[in-house]
Amino acid sequence: MPNYSEKPTIIFDMDGTLLDLAYDDFIWNELLPIRYAEQHQCSLEQSKQTLFSFYQQHNHTLKWYSSRFWTSQVGVDVLAMQIEQKAKVAKREGCIELLTYLKENGYPIWLATNADYAGLQFKLEETGLRDFFDVIVSSETLGHAKEFIEFWQILASKHPFDAKNCYFIDDTEKVLNGAKLFGIEQLYSIQQPSSAKAPRETCNYPMLSALTDLIPILEAQTTEQAEEQKKYA
Ligand SMILES: [Mg+2]
Repeated sequence: MPNYSEKPTIIFDMDGTLLDLAYDDFIWNELLPIRYAEQHQCSLEQSKQTLFSFYQQHNHTLKWYSSRFWTSQVGVDVLAMQIEQKAKVAKREGCIELLTYLKENGYPIWLATNADYAGLQFKLEETGLRDFFDVIVSSETLGHAKEFIEFWQILASKHPFDAKNCYFIDDTEKVLNGAKLFGIEQLYSIQQPSSAKAPRETCNYPMLSALTDLIPILEAQTTEQAEEQKKYA
């Protein structure tokens, strides 16, 4: 008889999922170009051109997510710059409500982020979210970005979980593809990762508009499982 008593593990991405991506967009697309132009005595336009070509070159690699890499690449201390702006880090709407609901209902809550370890620490500090999570991992620590199946294989070897009884929520489609390849079936994206940008029109995965939209989805699954359980009883 299948075991329906176990609550599914709920794994969240951080930036653009639980936290507003407007902060990261501001840091990388607005503030860094200004600081880079100052540092290298070039125009803002030249600075943006150089940086955006770096971004394209390294997008979706582990380097892309590393403050240390960017500091050495661009000559601006990007970790210090992010910490200096930490008051702008904001939770997305419904974040606390959803995490509180999951906690009160006994769901294991995990955080799996591509943010590097140092970035993860100051954001957890700033938002006060740390205590909600049973497991917190940064791809920097595991050695592979979440876009790749290796991340999931190593995560599961360090923290075993049932991919078939798991929900993963992430605003980046390539990351969801990596999780799918590993065997996670319940995959959700985010309709508006940044409050400063328009909501997305389409995505290959179902999108949560408000984070709390996950609650009725989980409740429907619980009801379905209770009915299955009755059949076996
Ligand atoms: Mg994200």
